[in-house]
Amino acid sequence: MIRANENYSKLKSSYLFADIAKRVNEHQKKNPEAIIIRMGIGDVTMALAPAVIKGFHEGVDEMAGDATFRGYGPEQGYAFLREKIAKNDFQDQGADISADEIFISDGAKCDTGNFQELFAQDIKVALPDPVYPAYLDTNVMAGRTGRYEDGRYSGIFYMDCLKENQFFPELPDEKVDLIYLCSPNNPTGSTMTKNELALWVSYARENRALILFDAAYESFIRDNELPRTIYEIEGAKEVAVEFRSFSKTAGFTGTRCGFTVVPKECMIFNTKGEKISLHALWNRRHSTKFNGVSYPVQKAAEAVYSKEGKVQIRQQIDYYLNNADIISKTIASLGFDYVGGKNSPYIWIDGADRDSWDFFDLLLTKAGVVCTPGAGFGRCGQNYIRISAFNSLENVTLAMERLKKALT
Ligand SMILES: *Cc1c(COP(=O)(O)O)cnc(C)c1O
Repeated sequence: MIRANENYSKLKSSYLFADIAKRVNEHQKKNPEAIIIRMGIGDVTMALAPAVIKGFHEGVDEMAGDATFRGYGPEQGYAFLREKIAKNDFQDQGADISADEIFISDGAKCDTGNFQELFAQDIKVALPDPVYPAYLDTNVMAGRTGRYEDGRYSGIFYMDCLKENQFFPELPDEKVDLIYLCSPNNPTGSTMTKNELALWVSYARENRALILFDAAYESFIRDNELPRTIYEIEGAKEVAVEFRSFSKTAGFTGTRCGFTVVPKECMIFNTKGEKISLHALWNRRHSTKFNGVSYPVQKAAEAVYSKEGKVQIRQQIDYYLNNADIISKTIASLGFDYVGGKNSPYIWIDGADRDSWDFFDLLLTKAGVVCTPGAGFGRCGQNYIRISAFNSLENVTLAMERLKKALT
């Protein structure tokens, strides 16, 4: 008899964005004339930059001639891309990362989700609450949790991210083995300083733990004091893996390309406490289960690092950051507390005692604006909503005018 992986039955049945879509559709049906503005989804809205399209086209054209055609490429990615990443994103930043420590992939969701395969089942996993759902759900599927009760899975060490700690996890008062961090953060938009990150690096070193650092929103950092990579922190190479993506950086959400940095110094342990190279393990996993990102897409990603590409991409991010600024100012003027909106496309708004789904319904029905209810990201998001700056300036301006009318 073919039996199911019953860990899947522990997963929460309702999916956040499906719930949102249902409520939005019902509202639209009742109000067929209403023009609804979607400020909920974390997806970019701007087209790929001209330099990126040029690189993409060049790659496609090469596929059209026998002499330049490419079949299977290296599973880890082409050297031309890995070298540009190592130089521009790390070495120029003062982080000593080499091209062969970079693994190109089809995105950070897959990598952050897949990486946990390399670890034992009975490790202790520490997750922020609120959290990007993929970190949690993939550990549930792998059987590292018990049942879901009261908004939480047993077996997970939840790190509450609330106003009291500037929405960033505090060091656990017990021993944990695998730590997920995300900065600039989705959903809260908060950012970790070098000092905060350094505390985590020392914790991991002292406890022989590993940090999985998601830096998908790195390109939104404009404050030069903030770390752009965890490898700016001394000692991080032995205890941290970093995930990056071209999705939010350069509008690749539909094009698909990201990468994971696994330094050669990074070690995990067997039951005897002997060291095992994480780089070798991920390389084995990646080359067995993944067959590389398509050549034209890697050419498009390479163009992100060209002179024109850099300028164009910065302009795109500036556009979204300007939206974030407009949203933040409106929210502040309405008397709400919020975090994010700087160095991040997300604004995390405190609804005071309002339940996040009630707040969601209020904005939908009174303003025709769709946000994301914080409860979808964890128990600590219960009284918050997330508004995303990924939209046109026109939509953002109109949405903010409507919010002012609805909430004053
Ligand atoms: C969008 C996002 C990613 C990137 O996902 P891709 O699979 O690369 O598109 C990764 N982590 C977080 C927290 C995100 O919000």
